[in-house]
Amino acid sequence: MPVLLLSASLQPLNVISRRRLVVLLTKERVAFLDDEARRLVAEELEQRRLGEGVIVVRLLRNIVVPRRMLRPNRRNLLLRDDHTCQYCGVRGTPAELTIDHVVPVSRGGAPSTWENQVVACKRCNGRKANHLPSEVSLKLRRAPRPVVQEYAHLLLLRYPEVRRAYEELVRSVLPAPPAASEPLGLALGAPSGPG
Ligand SMILES: [Zn+2]
Repeated sequence: MPVLLLSASLQPLNVISRRRLVVLLTKERVAFLDDEARRLVAEELEQRRLGEGVIVVRLLRNIVVPRRMLRPNRRNLLLRDDHTCQYCGVRGTPAELTIDHVVPVSRGGAPSTWENQVVACKRCNGRKANHLPSEVSLKLRRAPRPVVQEYAHLLLLRYPEVRRAYEELVRSVLPAPPAASEPLGLALGAPSGPG
């Protein structure tokens, strides 16, 4: 039973555990978005039974959310690059895709930075091998950037059921899409939000 924690202004902050939810409820830090959800969770807590659905709660007061820098691991790189080869643009399953070092490590490239790693299909990675992209006429489709502010975006990509629940919420509860000053970060690449 994933619990999606929203800020007071209804931006996704994190996916938290059921135990954490109980703590936050006890401290009166969070509220449910509607009475139906409150009733459902109260029942489940009473019966100590895990529900299946996604629970959405929001903080009662906004907090300062620290900038989060995600690690450029394989999973996050696949999410950033949308499972798409950054050279030829072909989409693939994780098994069909590799991580390519733009400047090969053997030639002084950084082994584990956001900027020097991109998703590549096996064909392009094989063609590139130990070369710079320009040496084998390959071109990056976009500059590889670190993922910092777009945490909410990755969060929702990682938990499809949470994303569905959030999108439903946006449609049903919110009178309008989130304000432009607080984008969800659905367009990767454009730095957004405060800070
Ligand atoms: Zn490719």
